[in-house]
Amino acid sequence: MPGFEFFGDEERKEVNDVLNTGILMRYGFDGMRQGHWKAKELEKAITETFGVRHAQLTSSGTTALSTAMAVMGVGHGDEVIMPTFTFVASFEAIIAAGAIPILVDIDETLCLDPKAVEAAITPRTKMVMPVHMCGSMAQMDELQAICKKHNLLLLEDACQAIGGTFNGQKLGTIGDGGTFSFDFVKTITCGEGGAFLTNNEEYFLNADHYTDHGHDHIGTDRGAESHPFLGYNFRISELHAAVGLGQIRKLDKILETQKKHNAIIKAALEKVEGITFRKIPDPQGDNASFLSFFLPTEELARKAHKALLANGLGGNFYWFDNNWHYIKKWDHLKNATSLFPLNPTLVQAIEETDFNSFAQSDTVMGRTISSLINLNWTEEQAKERASKMAETIQSVL
Ligand SMILES: *Cc1c(COP(=O)(O)O)cnc(C)c1O
Repeated sequence: MPGFEFFGDEERKEVNDVLNTGILMRYGFDGMRQGHWKAKELEKAITETFGVRHAQLTSSGTTALSTAMAVMGVGHGDEVIMPTFTFVASFEAIIAAGAIPILVDIDETLCLDPKAVEAAITPRTKMVMPVHMCGSMAQMDELQAICKKHNLLLLEDACQAIGGTFNGQKLGTIGDGGTFSFDFVKTITCGEGGAFLTNNEEYFLNADHYTDHGHDHIGTDRGAESHPFLGYNFRISELHAAVGLGQIRKLDKILETQKKHNAIIKAALEKVEGITFRKIPDPQGDNASFLSFFLPTEELARKAHKALLANGLGGNFYWFDNNWHYIKKWDHLKNATSLFPLNPTLVQAIEETDFNSFAQSDTVMGRTISSLINLNWTEEQAKERASKMAETIQSVL
């Protein structure tokens, strides 16, 4: 699943380049860095690997989302449509922008249901943010059509689906903008880090400035640069970028391994009557970091999950009860619990949201188990795990 399982000499070499010069900062110090520009190099590698015009590295996937909000002009009073199944960073970034998260049902793709998206559009809607969960994609063709029809921005959160594709296009490069996370458990890692991807020149230039206090990056004297607008420090360090350079060269190998191991588990579970699989709009484009499947009922899914863990089969996730990923336990969002006063428009919108109205999402998530795919399994280990999983689930059906 995560790139850290393939960590080794390649990352060490890149990091040592940085340690040898001691220049840990991505900007400036031109004379002392002996030609090493790891962040710049990684941004170039991202544009080439994913076929996108521009990439701006950030300190995390969360700050990549915040950067996207800022440069795409999302702010106070704007509504952003997001799914009920995602990581908490989705609504954190929307709220940090002063905008309003509009929660919308998922379907059996485990991603946004396009029909529910269309029903949630209001005059205040500014952006639709599909999240490609657990390595596989939302129905991008339908979401694109909806955004075009209603003149909305489309931002893909591809933090969990690096290397996945939809109809041949890399996830994260299809919408007006896209984001990756390189945190420690993602498909490729920098330790911490993220990226904002876009084909839009203006979004990119603004992202370049915004992530570095609004510095315009004109000339070589940082003290003499001007600040055309407000920004933050969302910079990645050279050390983290160096790790990412080692990792990105392994992406093909990571994806190939995930797909192989995923197929082995799937082949065993397919034989169990009662198990069905997550809908994948373009099966060839699955990054295969997880295999997600359904049991016939919530009760059976809970039983199966418990039995898997009891049989020593860790790495099987029941997201329905997980407080990071599913709406059911996002109490801090539902109660608008904040250290500082939130803007009244946002508070009112949260108060008016009926958080018990997501029966469709509950029905899907209640039945879902996701099994992580380890890169370091041998073929024998994958096969052994596959048959043990199938037997265990069979025993509760
Ligand atoms: C990990 C993740 C993020 C945030 O990334 P960080 O680098 O951990 O800040 C955002 N969205 C999704 C779907 C994620 O899985």
